[in-house]
Amino acid sequence: MEPQRSPLLEVRGNIELKRPLVKAPSRLPLPGTRCKRGPDQMEDALEPEKKRTRGLNTVTKLATSHPRGPALTARPQPQGQTTAPKVPKKTGPRCSTAIVTVLKNQKPGPAIPAQKPGAVAPPMLGGKKPTKRPAWDLKGQLCDLNAELKCCRERTQTLNQENQQLQDQLKEAQQQSRALGAECRTLEGELARVQAQAEQGQQELGNLRARVLELEEQLGTQESLVQELQKEQLGLQEERRGLAARLEEQERSLQASEAALSGSRAEVASLRQEATTQAALLVEQGERLHGLEMERRRLHNQLQELKGNIRVFCRVRPVLPGEPTPSPGFLLFPSGPSGPSDPSTRLSISRPDERRGTLSGAPAPTTRHDFSFDRVFPPGSGQDEVFEEIAMLVQSALDGYPVCIFAYGQTGSGKTFTMEGGPGGDPQVEGLIPRALRHLFSVAHELGGQGWTYSFVASYVEIYNETVRDLLATGTRKGQGGECEIRRAGPGSEELTVTNARYVPVSCEKEVEALLHLARQNRAVARTSQNERSSRSHSVFQLQICGEHAGRGLQCGAPLSLVDLAGSERLDPGLALGPGERERLRETQAINSSLSTLGLVIMALSNKESHVPYRNSKLTYLLQNSLGGSAKMLMFVNISPLEENVSESLNSLRFASKVNQCVIGTAQANRK
Ligand code: ADP
Ligand code: MG
Repeated sequence: MEPQRSPLLEVRGNIELKRPLVKAPSRLPLPGTRCKRGPDQMEDALEPEKKRTRGLNTVTKLATSHPRGPALTARPQPQGQTTAPKVPKKTGPRCSTAIVTVLKNQKPGPAIPAQKPGAVAPPMLGGKKPTKRPAWDLKGQLCDLNAELKCCRERTQTLNQENQQLQDQLKEAQQQSRALGAECRTLEGELARVQAQAEQGQQELGNLRARVLELEEQLGTQESLVQELQKEQLGLQEERRGLAARLEEQERSLQASEAALSGSRAEVASLRQEATTQAALLVEQGERLHGLEMERRRLHNQLQELKGNIRVFCRVRPVLPGEPTPSPGFLLFPSGPSGPSDPSTRLSISRPDERRGTLSGAPAPTTRHDFSFDRVFPPGSGQDEVFEEIAMLVQSALDGYPVCIFAYGQTGSGKTFTMEGGPGGDPQVEGLIPRALRHLFSVAHELGGQGWTYSFVASYVEIYNETVRDLLATGTRKGQGGECEIRRAGPGSEELTVTNARYVPVSCEKEVEALLHLARQNRAVARTSQNERSSRSHSVFQLQICGEHAGRGLQCGAPLSLVDLAGSERLDPGLALGPGERERLRETQAINSSLSTLGLVIMALSNKESHVPYRNSKLTYLLQNSLGGSAKMLMFVNISPLEENVSESLNSLRFASKVNQCVIGTAQANRK
């Protein structure tokens, strides 16, 4: 298949092919032949001919000019109107120079074809000088001219044809040029598109290269990962083998277990049956246990009643460092009927009778005062020993009997030590209040196993000069306590409550400790305003106990009151009555009045009088529910071991003895 030729090449080919035609004008008459006359003269002479061949020079000029020169691209003249650019009229030599210049500008082409032999040679052709006719040979000259004219006409015709051909070629070339221009534009557009594509391709290539790099990097990572995974796989395969071995072993043991299980199932069935029997037995036992618990409560109460609903314990504190040692025989603790192993119940104080001694002048004889109580604790008795006896009463409180424990005695005899404990928080010297509460919580917990649930609410107040103040006050009321009033909890209610006082639910020792600490702080603040007020006031710690047996619909509730009474000492009648002493006298009178009211209330209860003077003092009014017929009372009479306090000690012992003689009727548990 022949390759498609570019139109441009085609044109070039055409032009080259036709170049010989273009060369033809070079055979124009040479200068010097007829130029003497000049073109103008020729024109004048051949006017009609000139008019017919006007365009010849133009064509000749066009043809002789460079084929690819500007003349070729000149605007094509419409046919028939061809007006050749004016050739400057030049005289002979000039004209020939122009033609020579045109010829020079032409590219060297193929050799001029040889003139046909026999063709009529114009007189100037071939450089041959025509034979000069004599001037007279006009005919010859005319003949020459005619021949020359004929030759010129032929040539003109040839040139016209050439011109026509060239114009056709020009048109064709122009068409080709247009086509080429269009093609060129298309190609340029295509080139631009291709370039854009190439750019895009470059960009894509760049991206792809980056992507390739990235992928190569990823590949590297993946390869290392694969290696790691392969390693891991190896490890896992190893592990799997181990596990498979273990599994096998487990399966074997499972089979053994299953065999054992089927044996166990049979055992379980028999055990279940046994459990059902046991459950029935348990219910029966529970019933029995409850019956026994009620019986225990009844017997416990009977025992307490046999011991007396009012009991008096005497406690003698030890001689403190720095205090004078009392003379031997001043305080004696005679043993009971069964000897020293018996718990001590008796106490003797020997007091010198100063009046008799003075009269006779001899050393004063001593008078021995014997006292007997439910229990006497000599100075060496520890707090735990004292509490052992109280534990029984605490049990009664849980069983639903009101319990009231007092500490009575002169200031400094050990009341606070007995009730709250010694200083420093040493557990050995813990007093009755923390011990009693701990015991309560522990017994309540035990009774929980039998279906009993207990709740405890504590309050702590002091009664000073017949005013009640809260010892558990916090915040702004701290230390001042605010005035409190004793009121019935509700209309027709037997229960008493202290207005403005805090009632704090407690469930563990720590909470009780915190309350006792707070009470001590409140007392300390009060002491700064009034010296030693604590010993001049009664401190009443009360715990409301509520028990419930939901399963049997049983409830029991009772207050447990622990009272640290004000110092029972009387005012020395020999003291001068200054303003301070008068205040002291008033305090003392208030204390004495409330203490004697307590004695009177106990007497009235013992004598079963119709009127019990509870209202005569705030103390008895507050404690009335803990002192009645169903209550159990315990009074500690605290004694100083010092001889100097003998008078107050005897007073306290006498008061306690009176209380000890009282018997309050059979206590009834507060059951609902
Ligand atoms: P009261 O409260 O009757 O005024 P306290 O309880 O404050 O008396 O006791 C006065 C002092 O005697 C305190 O320092 C106390 O620690 C100490 N005391 C009281 N009883 C005992 C005792 N049984 N053992 C050791 N010290 C005691
Ligand atoms: Mg005290």
